[in-house]
Amino acid sequence: MIDHVYICGLKWAIKWVENAEHHGRCFVDERLIVVENNEHEGIRAETLWHEIKHAIWAAMDLREKEKEENVVTRMAFGEITVLSDPRNRMLVSLLTG
Ligand SMILES: [Zn+2]
Repeated sequence: MIDHVYICGLKWAIKWVENAEHHGRCFVDERLIVVENNEHEGIRAETLWHEIKHAIWAAMDLREKEKEENVVTRMAFGEITVLSDPRNRMLVSLLTG
């Protein structure tokens, strides 16, 4: 199982847990993503990507009232750093099945 991901070039830890209160959580200060393990593979991948997007939101310093165009532009930038980083090859194949 993948235990880290590079987001905007920075390493984040991924922790897989059983019976989590939520499907996933993103702890920005610790650069830690927690994902529930005992779910269908597709749900696991979707939850992991969901939490990675929270991490990108934080890394891009986005705020609640941000304009749509700004959110899309900055999220796209952050997502490309994840998808194109060669250190994330296992993640990309997990996400794309
Ligand atoms: Zn969320």
